[in-house]
Amino acid sequence: MAIVEEDLERLRATVSIADIIQQYVALKRVGRNWIGLCPFHGERTPSFNVREETGRYRCFGCGASGDVFKFVQEIDHVDFVTAVEQLAVKVGIQLRYTTGGEGRDRQRRKQLVEAMGRAFDWYHERLLSSPDAREARDYLRRRGLAGDVARSFKLGWAPDDWDALSSELGVGAEVLRETGLAFTNKAGRLQDSFRARVMFPIYTENGDAVAFGGRILPGSSDPAKYKNSSETTIYAKSKTLYGLNWAKADIVATDQVIVCEGYTDVIGFHRAGLRRAVATCGTALTEEHVRMMKRFASKVVLAFDADKAGQGAAERFYEWEEKHKVQVSVARFPTGKDPGDLSISDPDALRAAVDDAVPFLGFRLQRVLDSGTLRSPEEKARMAQQAMSVVNEHPSVDVRKLYAGQVATKVGLPVNDLVAVAAKGGRAYVRVAPTRQVGLSENAEFVAVAMLLQQWNDVAAWLIEALFADDVARRAFVALAAGNGVLNTALDTADPEAREMLERAAVADFDAEPLAEACNLIAAAVRRELGRRVHVTDPDVIRADTEARRSLELLESPDTAQEAASVLLGWLERRSEERE
Ligand SMILES: [Zn+2]
Repeated sequence: MAIVEEDLERLRATVSIADIIQQYVALKRVGRNWIGLCPFHGERTPSFNVREETGRYRCFGCGASGDVFKFVQEIDHVDFVTAVEQLAVKVGIQLRYTTGGEGRDRQRRKQLVEAMGRAFDWYHERLLSSPDAREARDYLRRRGLAGDVARSFKLGWAPDDWDALSSELGVGAEVLRETGLAFTNKAGRLQDSFRARVMFPIYTENGDAVAFGGRILPGSSDPAKYKNSSETTIYAKSKTLYGLNWAKADIVATDQVIVCEGYTDVIGFHRAGLRRAVATCGTALTEEHVRMMKRFASKVVLAFDADKAGQGAAERFYEWEEKHKVQVSVARFPTGKDPGDLSISDPDALRAAVDDAVPFLGFRLQRVLDSGTLRSPEEKARMAQQAMSVVNEHPSVDVRKLYAGQVATKVGLPVNDLVAVAAKGGRAYVRVAPTRQVGLSENAEFVAVAMLLQQWNDVAAWLIEALFADDVARRAFVALAAGNGVLNTALDTADPEAREMLERAAVADFDAEPLAEACNLIAAAVRRELGRRVHVTDPDVIRADTEARRSLELLESPDTAQEAASVLLGWLERRSEERE
């Protein structure tokens, strides 16, 4: 049963989210937010924020967030339609419905999961017995994934055919499309989504069949090595971990979960006796994933190339460590080996890598310390600087000081000097302040996103994509810009990480003047861009760069800032166009 969209919007515009929440939680006005004790987790200092203008709430303790409908759903444990109906009664709005009956969503879900389960069986049978799957079976045998392994993980084979599944499964076209198993092609015919691929079925933690990951065979001309089911009503990537259904028991028993990159890595760990491995399904690790894992274990071991994750990820890991009380560490593997390979060639090394996992900061620091030489005082100073910038990403001053000691020993500089650097460092990030309300990230790019959300007209003209160096902030900006600053539109298009940032930004308190804030971002982006220059010989480029440097100075004076900002925005846009 669906409610007419227009009525939903009317209701959303009519209800006061603060009024509704006040009926459950005592709220106090602080700045532009209403603040109270979170009803969704136990706490003694308030970290639950409600913002009337954006119509959203967010708890900085447990991460609960949403709009007024979500709040009623969560607090009263009702489904969406019931929540909407309750609110409509409260404010006296008469709802209109599109056709359909009660419980339809639930029935539909059951139907889709059933169809998906049949597809699991169909592809599996195909792999085990069909002549056209011989090459796939040979491939899996070489990688140690045949026989019992194939049966335990219900591996499958999608034949090299347009519509073998669609025509043989005995499931209606609409269900095939809604599960993502098939789609309507240009000729108007139903076509299988997976073709000539080894199939890895994906279950929810409770064992519901929801999606597939499909891998090509070696030598295939298909450029996409892996292809995953698209998101559907039964499958959300940010809330799904491949293998969790099999790994749950061991994760709980050992209080540890191993997170890998791919399906074959998960299977490799299981084969080596470490039955607590899971993988994200073609996405980065999200806070939603961490929240899921946290329900089963407090120790998270990353078993993928953590170098690739970089600084932005590091800051999120530290934030999650504190917020969700998990310990994140990194397993190191011999260069060029992934867990899947190792589980066959050297399972002992695989187990040792997990046993010897190091804290995330220690891992990143070691990378820096191993990267250079220390022959001259200049090299030592540079190394110390690089190492301390990694150390200072960590929010805890005590942790920073401990690692500063390690850096000092390694580079041979006085411990006290580096400890002093550590004491001052540390990037502000979202945390619950011990005494009063919420202290928020003062990270300039986050503030820009928040400003954009809350004061679109004042600031939109001064922000462009090239100003954002942090990838998540950049994606949040892109989603907001595409939605003309409308939060709900942006939330619909944003990826999970960007969505998470937008949710925080919608209730953020900041103390910043739009133009000044924009100027800071512009200056930083221009410096980054100039810093990229190595050997420039083109006189036009040199002239433009000199101009940019001059404008950079003008940016600092209030009289000339506005004009300089326009000039530099133009320069930055031309630069990023040239790069593409
Ligand atoms: Zn909470």
